[in-house]
Amino acid sequence: MEQSKPMQSYVPAGRHRLPPLPYPYNALEPVISERTLRIHHDRHHLSYVEGLNNAELKLVEARRMGDFSLVKHWEREIAFNGSGHILHSIYWTVMAPPAGREPGYYTMTEIEKYFGSFTSFKEQFTEASIQVEASGWGVLCWVPSWGRMEILTAEKHQNLTQWGAIPVLVVDVWEHAYYLDYQNRRADYVRAWWRLVNWAEVERRLRLAMRARVPLTTSSYE
Ligand code: MN
Repeated sequence: MEQSKPMQSYVPAGRHRLPPLPYPYNALEPVISERTLRIHHDRHHLSYVEGLNNAELKLVEARRMGDFSLVKHWEREIAFNGSGHILHSIYWTVMAPPAGREPGYYTMTEIEKYFGSFTSFKEQFTEASIQVEASGWGVLCWVPSWGRMEILTAEKHQNLTQWGAIPVLVVDVWEHAYYLDYQNRRADYVRAWWRLVNWAEVERRLRLAMRARVPLTTSSYE
């Protein structure tokens, strides 16, 4: 197997930073006002970054103390704030001052291949985003498992963990996975489950995942 080198820069626990906007605050007017952009970026996005850093540091402390009594809470916090940080970082960079830009070659090719036409894609993306219940996001994704795009929506983005994360090792803790063998004793199942892990496959998946490069702060536009 060919060697895959890690390309991502490592972000230590608690060291996330608010990325600067790649354009002035008034650059998106008249579609989005300077006032909206300032509050959205400087306050809302910042609070996700701070919440993520805080939660990660609390988990560092939990690992150090061997005290996981609040792990459920902090896992929720890293999902909520991590998704907020990632999605906002993407949102800023996929926008640019209003202009008549066209999708690039690969974007158009993949959109037409799966959605049939750009018009159909745009209609589904628009409707899906409009119909998100309460707070959320419309998301055009690349799904590595299918080798194609998909339109997804996030109601409460924390329910879908940290967007952009690629699963490397998973354990099913739905009752159907263990109930006949362990009944309600999920802890017994999870502790026993470690004996089953195929670490060679985990290593293979990790090396593939480490090839993905998804910058949070880069943006270019014409
Ligand atoms: Mn927002």
